[in-house]
Amino acid sequence: KFIKGAKERKEFYNKILELKGNIRVFCRCRPLNTEETVEGASMAIDFEAARDGELTVKSNGRPKKTFKYDAVFGPQSNQVDVFEDTAPFATSVLDGYNVCIFAYGQTGTGKTFTMEGTNEARGVNFRTLEELFHIIGERKGQFQYEISVSVLEVYNEQIRDLLVLGTQPGAAKRQMCLLEARATTSSRLEIRQVGEGIHHVPGLVEAHVNNMNEVWEVLQTGSNARAVGSTNANEHSSRSHCIHCVMVKGENLLNGECTRSKLWLVDLAGSERVAKTEVQGERLKETQNINRSLSALGDVISALATKSPHIPFRNSKLTHLLQDSLGGDSKTLMFVQISPNENDLSETLCSLNFASRVRGIELGPTKKQVESTELLKYKQLIKELESQLLLER
Ligand code: ADP
Ligand code: MG
Repeated sequence: KFIKGAKERKEFYNKILELKGNIRVFCRCRPLNTEETVEGASMAIDFEAARDGELTVKSNGRPKKTFKYDAVFGPQSNQVDVFEDTAPFATSVLDGYNVCIFAYGQTGTGKTFTMEGTNEARGVNFRTLEELFHIIGERKGQFQYEISVSVLEVYNEQIRDLLVLGTQPGAAKRQMCLLEARATTSSRLEIRQVGEGIHHVPGLVEAHVNNMNEVWEVLQTGSNARAVGSTNANEHSSRSHCIHCVMVKGENLLNGECTRSKLWLVDLAGSERVAKTEVQGERLKETQNINRSLSALGDVISALATKSPHIPFRNSKLTHLLQDSLGGDSKTLMFVQISPNENDLSETLCSLNFASRVRGIELGPTKKQVESTELLKYKQLIKELESQLLLER
C-alpha cells in the first residue's frame, strides 16, 4: 500500500506515533532458503497472531513460548510492508527528533536485507531517504532542510569511514569529500563531546545530499567500501556494525525555529554466540569486541529501563557513538531478525529474549532538538575549524 496524499500520510503517522513510549521492537522472520526447503527443515515459528504482534516459538511441533512485540513480520512480508510501519519513526527526524533504528540478530537472518535491501527490493535506508525528500518537497515554502549522510563502520572497536574507503581517487564528484577523505584516511576517528548531549566525530565525511541520485551514489560508495580490506565480505560484515547517519538541519520559515537532529540506521554485527575455544588470534579479538559492543548495548538499554543515574554509554564505541540518540528524549526502533529454521532455535530464543527486554523499556517523552540560529552558526564554525586542523596535520 502506498500512502498518497500529505494529509493521509500525516494521519497515518500520527496514529502510529500515538502509541505509548518511544522504544519499539519489530520482529522480522526471513523465509526458509532454498537449501533449507530442499532439506525439509522444520519451521520453529508460528505466525498465527502476527497481526497482533505475537509469535509463538515451537519445538518438536509443540508451542514453547509466545512473544509479543509492536509488530511481527512473517516470511511473506515484503520491504514495502516493513517500511510502512518504519516510516513514522524514521521521518520524525524532520520534525527535530533524534531517532535510532537497529537491526539485531544472528548472521543470515536478514539484517542487511531489512536495512540495505537489494537492488530489486530496497531496504529501510534507501526508502527512508526517499521518503524524507518526498516530505521535504511537500513542505517547500514552509520549511527549509539540509540533509547530509555519513556512512561508517565499527570494526574491532575502531571507527572506519566507509565514504572515504569507498571513494576511489579521482572518482569522487564532490571535491569537499575528497579533501576531507585525504585528511582522514590516515588518522583514527574518535568520538568527541562538543556540547551538552552533542557528540561528534571530527573528520568523518558528511556528504550533503540534495536529491535521490546523490543519495544513491553515497549509499553505493558506502556499500562498496564494506568489502575493502577483507578477504571475505560476508564474514567481515557479520563482525562489524554498519552505520548510516542522516543529519538533518531544519528551519521553520514561518517562525524561525531551527532544529538539528540525527537519524541512525544501524546494521549490527551478528549476535550469534561463538564458543571461545573455537577461535584464536585475530578472530578471538573480533569475537570479544562484538560481544562487548552488543552487551554494552544491552547494558545501556537496561540502565535506561531502570532509570539508573549512570548509563554506561562509554563501554563501547557503538554506544558512545549513538549516545545522543539513545537517551531518554529520542526514538528507538529495533528490528529483531530471526530464522524460522528449528535448527537455529537456540539463537532465535536468545534474540527474542533480548528483544523482549528492550521492549519492556519505557522512556520519558521525546524532545525536539531545537536550536537557536546563533548557536547553529557557532557549531558550524567549530566544525569547519576542526576540519581545517585535520587538513593541516
Ligand atoms: P544478515 O545481514 O542478518 O547476515 P542477510 O540480510 O545477508 O542476513 O540475509 C541472508 C540471506 O537471506 C540473503 O540472501 C537475503 O537476501 C535473504 N533474506 C533475508 N531476509 C529475507 C526476506 N525477508 N525475504 C527474502 N529474502 C531474505
Ligand atoms: Mg549482514
